Amino acid sequence: MGENPETSVLDPFNRLWDAQNVLVTNASAFPGSGVAGTTLTVMALTIRACRNLGSDAGSGSSAAYVKNQ
Ligand SMILES: Cc1cc2nc3c(=O)[nH]c(=O)nc-3n(C[C@H](O)[C@H](O)[C@H](O)COP(=O)(O)OP(=O)(O)OC[C@H]3O[C@@H](n4cnc5c(N)ncnc54)[C@H](O)[C@@H]3O)c2cc1C
Repeated sequence: MGENPETSVLDPFNRLWDAQNVLVTNASAFPGSGVAGTTLTVMALTIRACRNLGSDAGSGSSAAYVKNQ
């Protein structure tokens, strides 16, 4: 995840930069392996990504992240 498509695969709301209708909301979104339990963080990021997706519904926009800046 990141804010720059040049250095990240997912935007800050877990969307693939190259396919904004695809969300990756599991532990593979992390850039590395954790040193502590990651389940709650995965769940929180998933809820956040879904809320962002919902806020974008019906807008015709595929760039909710940009819109929310
Ligand atoms: C030994 C161990 C202990 C852990 N203890 C803790 C802990 O105490 N607290 C904590 O917060 N986290 C803990 N974790 C980490 C936690 O389990 C993971 O971070 C979390 O499960 C990741 O969730 P996920 O959805 O990304 O992947 P997973 O939970 O691995 O889910 C991936 C799912 O995809 C399925 N799948 C895979 N390939 C395919 C396919 N081709 N088609 C269809 N389905 C597929 C798998 O069967 C699996 O159900 C532990 C991990 C391990 C290994």
